[in-house]
Amino acid sequence: MLELADGIRRITFPLPFGLDHVHCYLLRADDGSWTLVDTGLGLPDPESRWAPVLGGLDAPVSSIVVTHYHPDHVGDAAAVAELTGAPVFEGRIDRAQCLRAWVDPAGPNRYRAHSSANGLPPDEADTLRDESEAIRTLVHAPGDPEPLEPGQSFDGWRVIHLPGHADGHLVLLRGGVLIAGDTILSRISPSVGLYPDARPDPLGDYLASLETIAELGATIAFAGHEEPVTDPAGRARELVHHHRERLDAAEALLASEPRSGYEVSLGLFGPALAPPLRRFALAETLAHLERLALEGRAERLDEGGSVRYRPA
Ligand SMILES: [Zn+2]
Repeated sequence: MLELADGIRRITFPLPFGLDHVHCYLLRADDGSWTLVDTGLGLPDPESRWAPVLGGLDAPVSSIVVTHYHPDHVGDAAAVAELTGAPVFEGRIDRAQCLRAWVDPAGPNRYRAHSSANGLPPDEADTLRDESEAIRTLVHAPGDPEPLEPGQSFDGWRVIHLPGHADGHLVLLRGGVLIAGDTILSRISPSVGLYPDARPDPLGDYLASLETIAELGATIAFAGHEEPVTDPAGRARELVHHHRERLDAAEALLASEPRSGYEVSLGLFGPALAPPLRRFALAETLAHLERLALEGRAERLDEGGSVRYRPA
């Protein structure tokens, strides 16, 4: 556990993915207890994972906040809620998506249908559906979370809705400190992808969220991965620039013969990708293609459930 600032501590857990770690945060509450922000992946044996963390605190964890429903953030929420007895707070949009993605048994097949409609070959679609099933076992969603509302004050922290990386992503801001979840990361670009049953323009959402971050006046952002972002506004502007370049690259890959999102993803990200990376590459490509369509730079064609794009 790392003391980052007065009343802000960071816990880091290893992840068995390409991204090899996730950070959770502890914020000192007004009454001296602790608020835990994010929970890590719901791997087996949560007791031995959390005992050193909870045992090292001088006061109990009195509430748990989930920034967004991705497995490495919400996965251990039910277990740590049980271990601490603390209520879990989660945004309404995020809660609904969490249930659709991880609790509804039809989630993996919905993902398979969506990826097939966007050109993913059947064998790869099967692999990603099976992977979705496997990921579901690593998410133990909280039973009945308390709502967390954008605009509310949570123990002195302002709750802000910054969609894009996830539709219902919430962050906390107090005194120039941003508890950012995955809205902004110091080195890598947070994934922004189109998934089934989600808002239709995640990249448009994300670009607007980056503009908001650039205007928040935050002096430091503590994020879900990597080291703190010491210039959140500057990093937000860099990420806007990055996505504008990716939009140009996606547009340049369109041709008069319509192409599926999968075909465009091969040009943007290359053909040889392990299944988890293919999932992100397809979703990210679709987010860019949908934004191009909304900007009048691409045309989206839906023919018999098969979606393809061509220049506008
Ligand atoms: Zn994350």
